[in-house]
Amino acid sequence: THFGFETVQEEEKAKRVYQVFENVAQKYDVMNDAMSLGVHRLWKDILLHAMNPQPGARLLDVAGGTGDIAFRFLEYIKSQEDKMRKREARSMQTPSWQDISTNYLNEQGEEPKESTAVVCDINKEMLKVGKQKADSMGIVSGLSWVAGDAEELPFGDDEFDIYTIAFGIRNVTHIEQALQEAHRVLKPGGRFMCLEFSKVSNPLLSTIYDTYSFQVIPVLGEVIAGDWKSYQYLVESIRKFPDQEDFKGMIEDAGFYCVSFHNLTGGIVALHSGFKL
Ligand code: SAM
Repeated sequence: THFGFETVQEEEKAKRVYQVFENVAQKYDVMNDAMSLGVHRLWKDILLHAMNPQPGARLLDVAGGTGDIAFRFLEYIKSQEDKMRKREARSMQTPSWQDISTNYLNEQGEEPKESTAVVCDINKEMLKVGKQKADSMGIVSGLSWVAGDAEELPFGDDEFDIYTIAFGIRNVTHIEQALQEAHRVLKPGGRFMCLEFSKVSNPLLSTIYDTYSFQVIPVLGEVIAGDWKSYQYLVESIRKFPDQEDFKGMIEDAGFYCVSFHNLTGGIVALHSGFKL
């Protein structure tokens, strides 16, 4: 508006989001397990299975926080490579038609280029906790950490095969802007994938979920992280986020094709996917 009221509100939101994640960073993983009863792990595993990334793929995980998606991505690819190597070894002994057609090595006999995952998050505290986690897990190669805003990504055009954002987009001030940036940094043929809390349609589940969110989550936040307000913010931000169909429309408006979504756990979470052509 002329009076800049919206801008002030937007700045407030960005500041608030920063403070929330700065406050919760150290306890973030513990809280995730406590609040979702561990189910966030399954939602993230499902994202990886739907993605089914192949060796050599380049991932950008935006709002990547403490690295859960990037770790899963690298693990998934490693297990794919192990499978291919085993198949290769077997086919050396008794080559079969099938083994030849699925040869892991490319025509020049080289292994595919290294898969890489870039975790990008606006919050330095979250990234710090993520890096410590990576160190303790012994993950070094193929992983990098970049501080940056989803609305203004510090990457060139057409750089990545896959863009993910898990439980991050509802925290971004201008969702449309973040979607446009996702489109820009993806290569043609690249895939956008988003996990986010969404709308529960079953009335009974919805009632239980509401009670749980508004009455249990802030209490858990206070008890585990000593921070009622941050968790109250998280619950409120979930309610304000567009539902499955509206969000699908926004992804299409950003220029993505073949946009679809799947509900997980009755729509508590939705997985949206789209392609840049
Ligand atoms: N993706 C991780 C996961 O699933 O565990 C972390 C999700 S956490 C709920 C949300 C993350 O979004 C926080 O780490 C926060 O710092 C980040 N974030 C919020 N606004 C952002 C923005 N504009 N650009 C990039 N990251 C942002």
